[in-house]
Amino acid sequence: MNESATGDAHEVRGDAGPAAGAAGRAGREMAPVAAGAGDGTRAVRAGLPEPAKYEPTLPGPVFAAHYHLPGEPTGPYTYGRDENPTWTLLERAVGELEAPGQDGIETLVFASGMAAISAVLFSQLRAGDVCVLPDDGYQALPLVRAQLEAYGIEVRTAPTGGDAQLDVLDGAKLLWIETPSNPGLDVCDIRRLAEAAHARGALVAVDNTLATPLGQRPLELGADFAVASGTKQLTGHGDILLGYVVGRDPETMAAVRRWRKIVGAIPGPMEAWLAHRSIATLQMRVDRQSATALAVAEALRERPEVTGLRYPGLPDDPAHKVAARQMRRYGCVVSFTLPTRARADRFLDALRLVDDATSFGGVRSTAERRGRWGGDAVPEGFIRLSVGAEDPEDLVADVLRALDASAA
Ligand SMILES: *Cc1c(COP(=O)(O)O)cnc(C)c1O
Repeated sequence: MNESATGDAHEVRGDAGPAAGAAGRAGREMAPVAAGAGDGTRAVRAGLPEPAKYEPTLPGPVFAAHYHLPGEPTGPYTYGRDENPTWTLLERAVGELEAPGQDGIETLVFASGMAAISAVLFSQLRAGDVCVLPDDGYQALPLVRAQLEAYGIEVRTAPTGGDAQLDVLDGAKLLWIETPSNPGLDVCDIRRLAEAAHARGALVAVDNTLATPLGQRPLELGADFAVASGTKQLTGHGDILLGYVVGRDPETMAAVRRWRKIVGAIPGPMEAWLAHRSIATLQMRVDRQSATALAVAEALRERPEVTGLRYPGLPDDPAHKVAARQMRRYGCVVSFTLPTRARADRFLDALRLVDDATSFGGVRSTAERRGRWGGDAVPEGFIRLSVGAEDPEDLVADVLRALDASAA
């Protein structure tokens, strides 16, 4: 048969037929979307293997504790704690979003955001090292601090706002940045902090959870690691936990990889596949959610009972100027304070389109009184509202109605 007469270019590619094994499927690398492509284009194609006849666009999850491995035990796929083809595709996708067009980038996925954070900190720091953390970051950071200190690592903290971490950098081995910070939504200047840290020989990691890679790209701003919880807006449906680390230096990333192997904090193949599937809609979700978050913030700004309103996308927000320099989208979280704890509870009760639940970034709006957890330094009436993909008019109306209903 004359193959070219079939007109099917895929058929003559050789090794990529339906019989290709798991390793083969992930190994069929497709050229990443050009660095200049739009975010939506990149999101729908990120990490996909080269098309092959009779194969799905995004291969399904590979469930394997071990792989056929006769002879010398060389990779890429040997044992399920070390590597998995479904991770490989997801890692490529995340890498293409966090560092489009950059060569030599390595991405590792983890079971959760905390697994990714711990992997960087505990693989890079030794007893006697100094680590700088934010004092207003994710609520588990104080637990991390206690563990680092138990291992003989000195931990210094400073607020995110005003680039205050600059003042405690001397002698540091690693600077940990979280911007925008959760839940206070303060922002610091990543480039400025990274330059100051590098001048002192320190590594720089940025928690990019709230911004997502479509909101901000820490590696381009000078960071050594972009780290995030994929549990939030990256996957966006509130149904999986995931984390990732993206880095540019093979040696430091080898230590992060080794840590993942030692601790075994690996994502299940199903979670990894769901995450990859969800990333296809990332640009649509992030654009919709940030536009609606701005509309909600603008509506809240008009209300006398609302104080401490924060949204980095609001032109008069204290963080807006620095945020506008380094962010391309401002996220889906709005925070504000109601006069009392009781008022805040009544407000949350009165909402119909917003679930009273923790976490953020999902397609369904959620809100909570953050003070109920303890740990965050926030007033009793502090609300963290995560804006979902509902119609903006419906959501704004629901929030305003709930504010009215909670007044009495
Ligand atoms: C949720 C969150 C984490 C932790 O992520 P998990 O997936 O819950 O482990 C870390 N950093 C920030 C900023 C977060 O919001």
